Amino acid sequence: MLRYIQCGMIIDGRGGMPIYNATLVIENERVRGVEEGWRGSDKESGNEVLDFRNLSILPGLIDGHDHLDIDMGDGETESMQDPQWRILKGVKNARAMLASGITTLRSAGEKHNLGHYLRRAIEAGWVPGPRLVLSGAPICSTGGHAWFLGVEADGPDGVRAAVRTNIKDGAEMVKMIITGGVTTPGGSLLRTCFTQPEIRAAVEEAHLAERRIGVHCYGGPAATWAIEVGVDIIEHGTFLTDEQLDAMSRHGTFLVSTSSVMRAAATTPHVASFMRERFRQVSEECVGLLRRAKSRGIKLAVGCDTHHASLAEEVETLLQAGYTPVEAIKIATAGGAELSGREKEVGTLEPGKFADFIAVKGDPLEASTAALRNVRAVFQGGVRQNI
Ligand SMILES: [Zn+2]
Repeated sequence: MLRYIQCGMIIDGRGGMPIYNATLVIENERVRGVEEGWRGSDKESGNEVLDFRNLSILPGLIDGHDHLDIDMGDGETESMQDPQWRILKGVKNARAMLASGITTLRSAGEKHNLGHYLRRAIEAGWVPGPRLVLSGAPICSTGGHAWFLGVEADGPDGVRAAVRTNIKDGAEMVKMIITGGVTTPGGSLLRTCFTQPEIRAAVEEAHLAERRIGVHCYGGPAATWAIEVGVDIIEHGTFLTDEQLDAMSRHGTFLVSTSSVMRAAATTPHVASFMRERFRQVSEECVGLLRRAKSRGIKLAVGCDTHHASLAEEVETLLQAGYTPVEAIKIATAGGAELSGREKEVGTLEPGKFADFIAVKGDPLEASTAALRNVRAVFQGGVRQNI
């Protein structure tokens, strides 16, 4: 059976201009094509027509970095909660993400592999949520940043074993925490948590297993080491120098920007004051970092990182940094797909890909994100999600 979605506007996510008054044609769970004009009802053959002529269609958003089981605030307290409670929190968050238009999430890690269970529940249709690309438990050094939310490993051999265990458990990507962070007391954001031989061992092991590796990294020497040894993704990256960004451009390293959580947490009362101050310092650099990344053509994705379901805010930061609305939407869709290695399946509305898309009220190409905040329908695999 074919399904025709008549739309006021279709943005296919490839970075070109939209097609107005068009029809998205879906065959089973995949996109068959985009046709100009509104294809009429075809009742004889049993095909279905949906009238979205007053709405705009674009690919489902793809979040490049979030954690299902942790909410914004004190990461240590959140991570120490019982797994039973955190998995229920994951159910809550997965639903909210999908309702906001996020149809795929590259998770940056959950303790106890809770993401694996959530993915099974989502794929079985028990709970609504994005398609999940999982990183398993983040690999931390003993006592290093975020030790409470991942697994601790030390020395090249210890790190290799941790990577192998994560992959054995089902991780599709590897996540490593190589510098300090906002939510761990003591130490600076640029504190190095692993040596270069340890980072090299993780990269080698991930690549031997044909997995990508992303590193939580605000900058400093660890950033130089990581880029040199071939890390695929730098997450946050707030204080990367121009030289480090140049090196990322040469190596094709992805950057994942997480600006919205920094801004939101800086003014959230229940966040500890030492963290709020750090969040403020980081948030002040986010637009500048993106401007510097843009001028170098660095591959980019965006992530909500515990400020769940806020990708519209990430798009807003991209607009502030000088990306056009078409470019910003491409980063929040195709960018996330490429980051996750899912670009053949999702991220654009092209023939053969999953029909994951959202219908929004308004024009997403206006220099505001009002339309992205007004999601009227979410489809995954051609099926409208009931959320
Ligand atoms: Zn994170």
